[in-house]
Amino acid sequence: MLSVTFLGTSAARPTVERNVSAMALVREGETLLFECGEGTQRQMMRYGVSFALSEIFFTHFHADHFLGVIGLLRTLGLQARTEPILLYGPKGAKKVLAQAIQLGVERVPFEVEVREVKGGDVIVQRATSNVQRDAYDIHVFTTEHGGGSVGYALREHERSGRFDPEKARAAGVPEGPLWGKLQKGEAVELADGRKVSAEGIVGPKRPGRVVVFTGDTRPCAAVIDAAQGADLLIHEATFGEEEKERAEETGHSTAREAAQVALAAKARRLVLSHVSARYSISADELVKEAREVFKESVVAKDGMTIEVPFND
Ligand SMILES: [Zn+2]
Ligand SMILES: [Zn+2]
Repeated sequence: MLSVTFLGTSAARPTVERNVSAMALVREGETLLFECGEGTQRQMMRYGVSFALSEIFFTHFHADHFLGVIGLLRTLGLQARTEPILLYGPKGAKKVLAQAIQLGVERVPFEVEVREVKGGDVIVQRATSNVQRDAYDIHVFTTEHGGGSVGYALREHERSGRFDPEKARAAGVPEGPLWGKLQKGEAVELADGRKVSAEGIVGPKRPGRVVVFTGDTRPCAAVIDAAQGADLLIHEATFGEEEKERAEETGHSTAREAAQVALAAKARRLVLSHVSARYSISADELVKEAREVFKESVVAKDGMTIEVPFND
């Protein structure tokens, strides 16, 4: 199971309909939080997102993306949490988050570690437990939003190929432990001394899923690279075409631009988020503009959950 739940989809400030940025990604029961705008903890309660999370990823430190971490950490402390938490963000994260952690609390009663990341970094290890991530990595990429912002791509590792029991039987391999070996891609030796390789019985390795989260950005090549073949691209679309210039001035994207990125990256699906307050009630205009370029586009709403299935 892999899904994302949008906790906040409004740019800059909350509206009645939409809170500021945050998104929960749930994979095999594990919850990762991307951004933590003001009020995120209440959105988590409202939409049933677990507080048992060990990592939060920040794309940059504009107020609408991180102020919620102050209250969230305090609540985690009140819940008698003892497990450490890891916060990731671009350069400056240590300074900004250290302030946020100290604000309004005597002391957070668990360890909070802040790690600064940059484009090209691959987060492979969970320092909280020192357990190697065995099924996916988080790739960090640079974005264009006026100084040091980053985005994140969760990339699952390749899965083993599909095992064909009929072919295994036809090759004379009896059901049992030998099938397990074949599934792992190993050759097996039968009772009569014959060797049977996995080739032809087990299909080619199958790709894992890729979910890309841009945070605030202009459309750019780094995002297109990071989103190559993504199963799900979550791209900001603060504005519509009529505010194209404003998007450029403020380091944001229009819905059409985000769709062009999705098209260039050959992504499977595009979800637009971080929309300006004027689209808070109806973002139909943004959907229309995006779909003219990239058909599989939707605009996120608070509380929307999107499942990311395997393609085979
Ligand atoms: Zn923002
Ligand atoms: Zn911003």
